[in-house]
Amino acid sequence: MSRKPLIAGNWKMHLSVAQAVELARGLAAEADKHQDREVMLAPAFIALDAVHKAISDSKTFLAAQNVAWAEEGAFTGEVSAPMLRDVGVAMAIIGHSERRQIFGEDDAMINRRIHGALAGGIIPVFCIGETLEQREAEQTFKVLEGQLSAGLADCTAEMVARMVIAYEPVWAIGTGKTASKEQAQEVHGYIRQLLLQKYEKKVAEAVRIVYGGSVKPDNVDALMAQADIDGALVGGAALKFESFARIINFK
Ligand code: PEP
Repeated sequence: MSRKPLIAGNWKMHLSVAQAVELARGLAAEADKHQDREVMLAPAFIALDAVHKAISDSKTFLAAQNVAWAEEGAFTGEVSAPMLRDVGVAMAIIGHSERRQIFGEDDAMINRRIHGALAGGIIPVFCIGETLEQREAEQTFKVLEGQLSAGLADCTAEMVARMVIAYEPVWAIGTGKTASKEQAQEVHGYIRQLLLQKYEKKVAEAVRIVYGGSVKPDNVDALMAQADIDGALVGGAALKFESFARIINFK
């Protein structure tokens, strides 16, 4: 089964609304030159509405950088899936290592957010990844298995089939250190095997597993050539038109 590659940009807490709109316009036009790949942009919450208006006639998907588990209520600082849908959001990054490490989000909370997203019609981009200590202690597979099982708790095969999984080794995020294409492929292959064990073959073959961690114009082609790497989740290099356009145009 062929999986359409997804190139996703996570703008984190960067860019003014005006800068986000301008960058999104340029990138959406670049993305629309391709039929064989999808592009997703995740601006800060405050820019979602304006970016949606700027790119709504393009094929680029708008994403949030997080999503609440509840539909509404007394949850200061949170934004729910129905609210996000209201401003044109189609996808949401969930479980990013910065949410886990800086804001203390644990597997149980991430699982609730995944359920909240799916219930509200938002596609989760569910992030998992090991730290350097865990990799050096040869715990990578065990850690990923734990994060995957806990994050997907009580999800049916049909729910999982709708998601994107992002493998983001924590030691490679924003550090300039990329997993080698062999390291990344090994882990992506392992994640697909886990999906195969837990769900049907159809699910394991349909789910896109994207790689994140210092993806740049000079390493994207090699990463994208790997059998189980179905896209990229890009932070730093997604903030400049030239570099993200080159990543969108991977060969
Ligand atoms: C990220 O934040 O998801 C990420 C992969 O960042 P960077 O590309 O800057 O490493």
